[in-house]
Amino acid sequence: MNMNQITVLGATGSIGVSTLDVIEQHSHDYNIFALTGNKKIPLLAEQCAKFNPKYAVVMDAEAAAELISLLTQNHVSTQVLVGTDALASVSSHEDVDIVMAAIVGSAGLVPTLAAASAGKKVLLANKESLVMAGNLLMQAVDKSGATLLPIDSEHNAIFQCLPRDIKSLSKGGVSKLLLSASGGPFRGWSLGDMGEVTREQACAHPNWSMGQKISVDSATMMNKGLELIEACWLFDVTYDQVDIVVHPQSIIHSLVQYVDGSVLAQMGNPDMRTPIAHALAWPKRITSGVSDLNLAEIARLDFEEPDLVNFPSLGLAYEAARVGLDAPVVLNASNEIAVQAFLDGRIGFTQIAEVVADTMAHAIFNEPDSLSGVQESDKEARARSAEIILRVQR
Ligand code: NAD
Ligand code: MG
Repeated sequence: MNMNQITVLGATGSIGVSTLDVIEQHSHDYNIFALTGNKKIPLLAEQCAKFNPKYAVVMDAEAAAELISLLTQNHVSTQVLVGTDALASVSSHEDVDIVMAAIVGSAGLVPTLAAASAGKKVLLANKESLVMAGNLLMQAVDKSGATLLPIDSEHNAIFQCLPRDIKSLSKGGVSKLLLSASGGPFRGWSLGDMGEVTREQACAHPNWSMGQKISVDSATMMNKGLELIEACWLFDVTYDQVDIVVHPQSIIHSLVQYVDGSVLAQMGNPDMRTPIAHALAWPKRITSGVSDLNLAEIARLDFEEPDLVNFPSLGLAYEAARVGLDAPVVLNASNEIAVQAFLDGRIGFTQIAEVVADTMAHAIFNEPDSLSGVQESDKEARARSAEIILRVQR
């Protein structure tokens, strides 16, 4: 049997590293075709030395020079390519079977769309691309016959709890999706208490170890808002068919409610290698390296309602989901700019939601019907948020 050829977009990130960990455990079945990274070039060079991909893609000439020099020193024959077009070409290359879309933020959109259009098995971690261009991505999947499998733990859990082979959820007897949320590091805090939190506090997630952007999104709960929109596209439901349930232990990754009163949950230790292994091998199952769940040790599972008063980002995401059109593009772009400004120490934590709210309040929403339409609203929203930040920064 031919080995599965894989491109890992965002190989140097948290999801990328976990993906390579799972692949290394199954090196007879999977072969790396291409790895991509933006910073952390020494790590990318190490990964190339270990997995010997045909291509490595970086985003600028400086990174390319550094990578080429490290690869040459170590006699690694990987060819180095540069830029967004190269990301798209290693995602849609005819020799590739599986693409792990694990770039963070809107930078992941073009290669993810390229993989979907080329009919690949797409493992989607990059939720921002669905939030921005759900319509285009789902159309591309339908048209090409691509397989889109969610890596986000909640969506992967829902996917596992849904009936197989039923296109319409209502026909399968599904009445609701229940999206788990940990509540992040500031669960139970008031907005006032969050005014002075530091970058380190915001990035210290109680259950998951993740990249900085998604860690901050988890702290504001914008992550759950993005996931709400992600769920609507992935499972073809409206936002009012998705309930968010705060579950601080992150053991139940999400649930599906059926009309007969049954609720199916997917559980496991909070380790992204589980959804990664699930999607990699689907519809088969492979080991992931994640330890067994010890229920007696966990002892209890708690649940509570989401707090929309102290986590206004979640309300903004609901608003974007309700409005539709390009409101999710504006929400996502503005949030990316605001989170970066917070990470750079230019604005406070609670100002993230204020910047997004201000950007949304002054936007005129249109239907984006093409990639360039999406990119245009993304660019405008970024510019608007950047202006707001200049006005309000410390
Ligand atoms: P990360 O910051 O650890 O890694 C991001 C990767 O993207 C890195 O390889 C980086 O080099 C690359 N990258 C960043 N900016 C880029 C750019 N402009 N152009 C090209 N490449 C770029 O992020 P992460 O935590 O691994 O998250 C990746 C994606 O997966 C995000 O969309 C996130 O929401 C999603 N996700 C992550 C987790 C998790 O546990 N980490 C869970 C669910 C979903
Ligand atoms: Mg998630």
